[in-house]
Amino acid sequence: MSARLIDGKAIAAEIRQGVAQRIAGLDFQPGLAVVLVGDDPASAVYVRSKDRAAETAGIRTQTIRLPQQATQAEVLAVLARLNADPAVDGILVQLPLPPQIRTQAVLEAIDPAKDVDGFHPMNAGRLISGTPGLVPCTPLGIMRLLSAIAIPLDGARALVLGRSPIVGRPMAGLLLGANATVTQAHSHTRDLPAECRRAEVLVVAAGQPELVRGDWIAPGATVIDVGVNRLPDGRLVGDVAFGESAAVAGAITPVPGGVGPMTIACVLENTLTASLRRRSVII
Ligand code: NDP
Repeated sequence: MSARLIDGKAIAAEIRQGVAQRIAGLDFQPGLAVVLVGDDPASAVYVRSKDRAAETAGIRTQTIRLPQQATQAEVLAVLARLNADPAVDGILVQLPLPPQIRTQAVLEAIDPAKDVDGFHPMNAGRLISGTPGLVPCTPLGIMRLLSAIAIPLDGARALVLGRSPIVGRPMAGLLLGANATVTQAHSHTRDLPAECRRAEVLVVAAGQPELVRGDWIAPGATVIDVGVNRLPDGRLVGDVAFGESAAVAGAITPVPGGVGPMTIACVLENTLTASLRRRSVII
């Protein structure tokens, strides 16, 4: 391996510590509410780790649990209550939701000022128009990673593989905002390996185990692997074939321990940001 390993755990720990220090200096305690519908075990694990991280940073948390059979009206009623609660600065609805509930309707029911996942169309629009809003935590975490290891983005050729509303699209918007020249690739892209090979910064969020091979990567490129895939043999791998890519790249994130910890750190950062904006401390 010749690439520099990007240690997301260590960088996330610094961000969490910074958030905790800033919160310790406030004369109020930011509040985060997490809505968990159903009994998906992976969702329960995510919610617990967000809860723990938030409490450690000094954020007051509450988890509202609804049963698997909950109706859309019940979820919307919880959100209306949280939107109106002045002690709640941030609201997260853990996805995926049970099939009887329309995810988009739920996401659009969150007050955009409390939308710490940044999934509300108002916040998505703000990101694209380059105005301050709440930015989805995974792409925000990736920007923090790139900044922490001083990867130059101004004028850089960046490729984002994936165009989901929660990762790929906002990622491309943030890179564009940082003056990178951005290509967005997806399942209809012709000659994906050649497109990837042109990138100095390659962000991969396809949800396909080890899709990106070592010979798709330009020598010295920075490779950010968002994918989290469980193989039949139980191994956890990213969307990038790690060993062969690390031999070519200049810097690369591991899976796990790369992007994942940054996502949680940015939930905390967004909760702090939302709490300050709601009190007009910052815009
Ligand atoms: P989605 O399934 O919503 O989107 C995947 C995107 O990749 C789509 O745009 C799709 O193209 C594209 N794609 C899929 N297969 C190919 C292919 N063979 N060639 C080219 N493009 C392809 O996934 P998400 O964005 O939600 O998540 C992506 C990955 O990131 C997942 O593994 C997920 O688990 C992980 N993740 C990790 C997080 C973390 O904190 N570490 C947070 C969020 C996600 P098209 O649009 O044409 O269908």
